[in-house]
Amino acid sequence: MKNNMPLRLLNICRVSSNEQGEGYSLEAQNQANHEWAKRKGYTIVDTVQYIETASKQKERKRFREIIDRLRKDTTIDGAVFHKVDRACRNITDLAMLEALETEKNKQIFFATQEFPQNAAGRLSVGVMGVVARWYTDNLREEVNKGFRGKIEAGEYPHKPPYGYLTVKESKDSRLPTPDPEKVENVRTIFKLMATGQYSIDTLREELFKRGMYFSAKTRRWTRSHLARMLRHPFYIGKILWHGQIYEGKHEPIVSEKVWQKVQNVLDGRSNTKSLQKRSFTYGHGLIKCADCGYNVTAETHKKQYTYYICAQRRHTDHVEKPAWVPEQKIELQIVSLLEKLVLPKDIYDWVLEYLKRSSIQEVSDVENELKSLKRKISESQKTVDAILLRAAQAQDSLADGFMRLAQERQSEVTLLQHRFEQVKSGVQEDNGRPMKILELTQDLSRQYVTFKPPQKRQIANSVFSNLELNGVSLCADYRLPFAILAKNANRPVEYARQDSNL
Ligand SMILES: [Zn+2]
Repeated sequence: MKNNMPLRLLNICRVSSNEQGEGYSLEAQNQANHEWAKRKGYTIVDTVQYIETASKQKERKRFREIIDRLRKDTTIDGAVFHKVDRACRNITDLAMLEALETEKNKQIFFATQEFPQNAAGRLSVGVMGVVARWYTDNLREEVNKGFRGKIEAGEYPHKPPYGYLTVKESKDSRLPTPDPEKVENVRTIFKLMATGQYSIDTLREELFKRGMYFSAKTRRWTRSHLARMLRHPFYIGKILWHGQIYEGKHEPIVSEKVWQKVQNVLDGRSNTKSLQKRSFTYGHGLIKCADCGYNVTAETHKKQYTYYICAQRRHTDHVEKPAWVPEQKIELQIVSLLEKLVLPKDIYDWVLEYLKRSSIQEVSDVENELKSLKRKISESQKTVDAILLRAAQAQDSLADGFMRLAQERQSEVTLLQHRFEQVKSGVQEDNGRPMKILELTQDLSRQYVTFKPPQKRQIANSVFSNLELNGVSLCADYRLPFAILAKNANRPVEYARQDSNL
């Protein structure tokens, strides 16, 4: 960047299709970014606006194109976003922005959030990135919460398994109903299996012989179709969701007695490998062998102890013979890597203070909206009252018209009140969430052991990259922004920004 020239910036406005509400619209962002640039004396050379669609891939492609342009175009000194959460939807985004700053010497600004140009400032960008990330995850959780409510009420918000059709009960309720064309197939399959005379493979043959095809196109049943069907509690009226069984509202099509018999047959048959496949917490290629680069895989010994080892352990290109590492040992090392994310107290306090201040700002925005809604509600209510008074005084022939008008206006009031409640509950939910999230990161190492395997895997995957098993020790890199946390944790704070002075 040249000192005597105003910074030339790309103005980037980003909004997702479901949040084009007030304060977030592209136009509002665009205007705020322009005003900010004017105040700072910077030049906006171009504006890129985009609405995120449902397609994550398209969204990522678009973001990458913008980043690419910033990298290559030497006539642009940097970019301005409205807020950190507009810029970083996830950790990859943040990493790309970081790289722009460190590798290409571009400057990234956020029009509504000022960050001091020092270690703590950069750290808070990182933390805000974590916040943005957790917000997205929380949204998913909210959706899941909606699912949970439905499932607890016995409804099934997904596509039901083979043998059922989804019938619309009402506007937002669907009930799976037995499919008259397939229900007998399901019953026959269960009955045959319950005899104990078939394996999955011989059952496939039998079905084919009987002309009981999976579909007109795919005549043969696959092993996984059958394996999944025969284990599915949906057929006895139950719903399996996140490892728990709920009572469904739908009609069972297999008796519990037959279903249980089938389970016993399947359990007793140790050679039906496909059903015994267990999912290991740190399997799925999460960890690589440091020696040969292949995946680390797991095995269960004596039915309860899980050990991890290089999947290519017999290959000769190992310097040392790969070791069997107990899961416990892997987990302890992950926990100690997570402990490195704990910030020193002064930085923690600083970031917390920052988050508090920015959330107060947002709360005051919302309070303004609440005030204006309240005013609108009371004005509209007065109008309704006036119309009702007119109706009471009017002749019969006119009274009906006034009553209709009053009703219309009354429904407007109801809508406004609804909006008011929504905004109000939004404040209570959101207020303090970023702080909680920061606390959560700080507490992650202690919480970690209480999580279920899929959560553990998700966390390990989002915090670390290049997890490698070297002998019995686990090595890892931190992904951004955790890398920033780990770098700053338990270390003296450098307050000077160490970049080149041109
Ligand atoms: Zn290996």
